[in-house]
Amino acid sequence: MTPTPADQAVLFTVDHETDTPISGVTSAGADPAASDAALAGDGYLWLAAALPRPRPPACQRCRTPEVLPASAPVLWTCPACHPQEAR
Ligand SMILES: [Zn+2]
Repeated sequence: MTPTPADQAVLFTVDHETDTPISGVTSAGADPAASDAALAGDGYLWLAAALPRPRPPACQRCRTPEVLPASAPVLWTCPACHPQEAR
């Protein structure tokens, strides 16, 4: 059945007037902090918590298992060869 012009006109007829926005989030007055946090996420901390701890590599000089120092937890450091940096 082919729609008639009268059927299609129904698509554009507003039954009632309303003050609320019809679609989407109003851009004005919306606090971007919530969406920023949603986009940035939690830095994949949930993934780090789900994965097992990484196996420490052995020091190339003394074969001691290296540690991730609290001051720079992305750099493996040998606690025997570099005690200052391993803290
Ligand atoms: Zn070492």
